[in-house]
Amino acid sequence: TFKAILVSRDDDKNQHVDIAELTDAELMEGDVTVAVEATTVNYKDGLAITGKSPVVRRWPMIPGIDFAGTVAASEHPDWKEGDKVILNGWGVGETHYGAYAGLARVNGDWLIALPDALTPHQAMAIGTAGYTAMLSVLALERHGITPERGPAIVTGANGGVGTVAISVLSKLGYEVIASTGRTSESAFLTSLGASEIIDRAELSEPGRPLGKERWASGVDSVGSVTLANVLAQTMQGGAIAACGLAQGMDLPTTVAPFILRGVSLLGIDSVMAPRALREQAWARLVEDLDMVKLEALSRTIGFGEIIDTAHAILEGRVRGRVVVDMAG
Ligand code: NAP
Repeated sequence: TFKAILVSRDDDKNQHVDIAELTDAELMEGDVTVAVEATTVNYKDGLAITGKSPVVRRWPMIPGIDFAGTVAASEHPDWKEGDKVILNGWGVGETHYGAYAGLARVNGDWLIALPDALTPHQAMAIGTAGYTAMLSVLALERHGITPERGPAIVTGANGGVGTVAISVLSKLGYEVIASTGRTSESAFLTSLGASEIIDRAELSEPGRPLGKERWASGVDSVGSVTLANVLAQTMQGGAIAACGLAQGMDLPTTVAPFILRGVSLLGIDSVMAPRALREQAWARLVEDLDMVKLEALSRTIGFGEIIDTAHAILEGRVRGRVVVDMAG
């Protein structure tokens, strides 16, 4: 048997979160079984465990949208026992039993090989948030954005996506403007590579359709009014990658930045991203993310601390990334 976090619903649709002992036979269908070595707590995991948003769509559910581990059994041609693998998304932890368990059984097509340069722990210090930060950078690059075009803004700077985005963009030579509600963490953000810190309050209230041109590109994990203001202050021909909704799902913008400045809004979805793009993102993380910074922006918890951390992340109390060491 192995331990798992199980979220369930009673007849009145109240959500319950329990730690259960499960057997291999109780796992869902899949052709690869993985011994989970490390997982993480992402914003979405916080939503799933607290029930604050309808992330879980099948009951009961083992939450946890990402893991790294070792293949324990495989009927999939690409994977054999002992292979080190990573999983991000594909509905795992939403509609398919997820990462917060000793074992996970999934479709082998969803897995990618753990890059040789990374340990399972490091891969999960990056996690879905960090992999999404890299998908955002890749989208900006596909749009032709380079450091020479001007500064890049990162919103939600102290979050998981934000801290990895700052680290990667600064290593690539960008001047990074970090927007945060926690300006007390300015020294930390500067150590990751931010060259200017702005208070997120500057961006979180409704503003003008067009403002001063302040940045050429950006990675936005906040959405809502913040993203509208980011777009309004993007330079001619610039682009913003939108990947999150920490402020809200809405986007109260006008077409002005698009039609008067040729600004582009690039959508980022990590969940259903095709395998080739995932492999490219992980390869680029190996190249362009400083492992010393990764260590500085992440901390490790044990299985028993996942539920408390899920609440903390929604309250904006988590800095950077949290790795769950399944042996811990
Ligand atoms: P996180 O660690 O909680 O980071 C979110 C950050 O946003 C917080 O640290 C905070 O940064 C800022 N923030 C929180 N509440 C805010 C508010 N009301 N107004 C303005 N800023 C606020 O979460 P994460 O794991 O990095 O994820 C970030 C977002 O990206 C989430 O919405 C998540 O669902 C989304 N996401 C999407 C994908 C995708 O595939 N598109 C993948 C991963 C994540 P400061 O304290 O620095 O202000």
